[in-house]
Amino acid sequence: MIRKWLLCCLLWSASLFVYADNQALLARTEALRLSDPSTAMGLLSEVDQNSLNQAERLRYRYLEAYLSTFNGDLDHTLAMYSALLEDVPESALRIRVLTSMLGVASYKKNWRQSFELAGSLDDLLEQVRAPERQPEAYKGLLVFYNNVEQQDIALVYASRILNHTLATKESKCFALTMRNEINLKRQAVNENAFYDAISLCESAKQPYYVTFNNVHLFEFYLEQQELDKAQIIAQDALRKVNSVDFVYLRSSFIAAYARLKAAMGDTEEARKLALDVLQLDKAEQFQESLIDAYQLLSTLEADAGNFAQAYAYLTTLNRLEASFHSEQVAKSLALQQARFDLKNKESQIELLDKKNQLLSTESELVQEQVQSMIMALGLAVFAVIALLFWSYRTRRLQNRLRHLATTDALTGVYNRGHFAERSQQLISKASDNSQPISLIFFDLDHFKRINDTHGHQIGDWVLCEVVKTIEQCCIANKHLVGRIGGEEFGILMDNTDQSTALAFAERCREAINTIDTHFSGFNFNISASFGVSDTRQVGYNLDNLFSASDLALYQSKKYGRNQVCGYDGSASDL
Ligand code: GH3
Ligand code: MG
Ligand code: MG
Repeated sequence: MIRKWLLCCLLWSASLFVYADNQALLARTEALRLSDPSTAMGLLSEVDQNSLNQAERLRYRYLEAYLSTFNGDLDHTLAMYSALLEDVPESALRIRVLTSMLGVASYKKNWRQSFELAGSLDDLLEQVRAPERQPEAYKGLLVFYNNVEQQDIALVYASRILNHTLATKESKCFALTMRNEINLKRQAVNENAFYDAISLCESAKQPYYVTFNNVHLFEFYLEQQELDKAQIIAQDALRKVNSVDFVYLRSSFIAAYARLKAAMGDTEEARKLALDVLQLDKAEQFQESLIDAYQLLSTLEADAGNFAQAYAYLTTLNRLEASFHSEQVAKSLALQQARFDLKNKESQIELLDKKNQLLSTESELVQEQVQSMIMALGLAVFAVIALLFWSYRTRRLQNRLRHLATTDALTGVYNRGHFAERSQQLISKASDNSQPISLIFFDLDHFKRINDTHGHQIGDWVLCEVVKTIEQCCIANKHLVGRIGGEEFGILMDNTDQSTALAFAERCREAINTIDTHFSGFNFNISASFGVSDTRQVGYNLDNLFSASDLALYQSKKYGRNQVCGYDGSASDL
């Protein structure tokens, strides 16, 4: 167990080392990526890719793509960046990827891609709060827009860098230098701007950009015909130009210096300097300076009467100018095309957006229709439920009213009217089927005395108990019980002759007579007198039946109460 635990600890601490190691390797690769790319590449290859988390993995891929720039296969680099963009979320790292990719794409003159990247980068900078990444990204955008002849936009990014609180002195030196270069071409600059830039770049320890501004200041004086001032700074500029190893800067300064010498009448020195320019850039990389130099040389030779030499310079000058202009034209055409393609794409996207809007409006409409249908259905369902409820309540009310209209409120049996009505129906039916029907009437004996002795409430209780007792003797559908009035009740018996009814009446009499009254709080006797007749005796006639049973009941009372008497007279007695 302990061994297992130790092994776990060992593995865990080992993984921590790998983690810390990878972190350090990525940080060092990043620090050296520009100044020492080959060492950076070596460091990156030591990173254990399997132990990287998601964010580190993306950072690794960015550095891998960045360093691949130095291998020269820029198409491959662009492909790596493109693949990375698929996976990198909107973050500070995405800003870096877009910035680096923009540099490569614009160097490759993939103008359309560059315009797209610049647009995405600008949007992203608006969305992602990563102020520490902004100056670098603005720098990329400044270079790009200057490169594609959109100096107005380039100047916006230069200002953003200059006003940015997190921009380094180096970045500000760069932005100011670029702004001066753009404004120099537009003749919208003054000498102070160059001096400001020079002092800023000196304090930022950027000798290359100090020199750059010196050269531009020199050109500015030359443009302004301030030859004395140009002469004063010329030596210092020349020294600086020679100390930085950059042909573009040297050739453009020497060409300008040659023009100054010529303007000051020092043709020999002017010729010598112009020839230096030709010597410096044999590969004809920087045509603008060469054009300046050839122009000057042909003029100098023509002035000196060396027309053959002047003609030779002129011929080269024409060739260079033609090639320079055709390159310019080709570039501006390519830029125009790229911008046009992008506009086209944007308007296609706009069109698609509009179509989508239309579709979504349509679907909203359909949704609204569905919603109104659902609402209508809901309303209908509600109405149906309300109707059902209402009809249920109405039916209940009807039932209640019917119940109230047909039953006796105290005992719950049929009242006289309904008892008569139902009896009539049964008699008619029995008449059709030639079946006998019997009618029992019974009346409580000396009921008035019960009321008088024990109170009306006890009288009510007795009525209810009697009905309960009778109902226990009766069979549903066969016996119809009703309260004829006061303490008198009727029982109509379907398909029953008098003898059966007499026996039934006798059972009822006995049952009533044995009711235990002590539940009422008193002890007293209940009895009832019965009279029974049937249709065989009086015919299928309700009134006859009622009268015959009534007569029989009267007889029971007469003979002493608490007994059953059958009607035994003829119909003529009725
Ligand atoms: P008999 O044996 O001759 O039938 O005598 P009786 O006292 O039963 O008959 P009588 O007709 O003299 O009295 C009937 C009494 O029944 C009169 C009346 O107040 C009472 N009564 C009628 N209906 C009700 C009722 O709903 N509740 C109560 N407590 N008494 C009722
Ligand atoms: Mg009575
Ligand atoms: Mg009575």
